[in-house]
Amino acid sequence: MNFRTLAIHAGQGPDPAYGAVIPPIYQTSTFAFRGVNEPGPFDYSRSGNPTRKALETCLARLEGGVAGFAFGTGMAAETTVLMLLDAGDRIIVHNDLYGGTYRLLTTVLANKGIGVDFVDLRCSDLVRRAIRPETKAIWIETPTNPLMNLVDMAEVAGIARENELLTICDNTFLSPYFQRPFEFGIDIVVHSTTKYINGHSDVVGGAVVVNSDALAERIGYLQNALGTCAGPQDCFLVLRGIKTLAVRMEEHNRNALEIAHWLERHRKISSVLHPGLSSHPQHDLALRQMRGFGGTFSFRVAGGRTEVFRLLGGVQLFTLAESLGGVESLIEHPATMTHASVPQEERERMGITDDVVRVSVGIEDVQDLIADLDQALARV
Ligand SMILES: *Cc1c(COP(=O)(O)O)cnc(C)c1O
Repeated sequence: MNFRTLAIHAGQGPDPAYGAVIPPIYQTSTFAFRGVNEPGPFDYSRSGNPTRKALETCLARLEGGVAGFAFGTGMAAETTVLMLLDAGDRIIVHNDLYGGTYRLLTTVLANKGIGVDFVDLRCSDLVRRAIRPETKAIWIETPTNPLMNLVDMAEVAGIARENELLTICDNTFLSPYFQRPFEFGIDIVVHSTTKYINGHSDVVGGAVVVNSDALAERIGYLQNALGTCAGPQDCFLVLRGIKTLAVRMEEHNRNALEIAHWLERHRKISSVLHPGLSSHPQHDLALRQMRGFGGTFSFRVAGGRTEVFRLLGGVQLFTLAESLGGVESLIEHPATMTHASVPQEERERMGITDDVVRVSVGIEDVQDLIADLDQALARV
């Protein structure tokens, strides 16, 4: 079955109790045993819950993996995956990374004895040189946030395989509709389902999908041991969001690309960071590993913080807010908002300077969105 069909049907057959067409919200902590020493398919909701199971099955099918796991937040999903590492191990990560992942690695895991090496994963020589005997995994985010750099997943996964390292890809920005990391040899996919997968800005959630039974066993064990799972109500909402993932992604993609082209011609914009533009330095790679570009991208405003703050203060339809991937359009300033937890020096070294603005383009009428940016830029 194809993606659009799976999004609506995978894991979501009629419910065995009464034939409900939509998987019900099994709002229960525990399940009655059928008899002494005879548990049913579920015994306790941390270990498993039918609503969560429906979502997890659907996520696994959409990514093309063998098993999926739903978590309370994207960070809970990341934490669970990172617990595959032990004290003394090291992980290589891209040097331009989601701010929360950066914080988790540098302020939490580093204190538990897990070493982190920041590397520009765009350069295979640097990746090879960073591998030490203690290195166990490589963490990829592509496109990166907020600079929209791409990592060649096939290349990094190849290097990882030669060195018996696990590869993990945070696929939040594109969703499985536009990018399927397993096709390029990645071992584990993580998502903040808060973003495109749910798509309606009314849930925080996370997901992990794995491509082997051995990893499924380990992540399942950790999800239960750590207690990082998602609750049934949130799983229900994410599953409802997924039904329209394909149609939403098409609209996000179309709107964002049109706005990116418009911004590229605007005299107050110094550059547009969008992998779908031929001006993007990795546009060819984008065409090779992504089926679309999603709805989130960044641009640089000529000038600096003063000009950016005028733009952010002037928008009326775009909402000034963190997060991304919802049907409504958001705008934000990475240096003072999403990436404020990255030290200034580090941020500037990465290129997240004060002139960068990130937008999450929603599925409103694109002419209304352009008109809003146009009037706000007129105040800059
Ligand atoms: C939002 C986000 C996360 C964290 O997810 P939460 O649901 O906020 O915990 C991780 N990675 C990326 C790329 C994100 O955008």
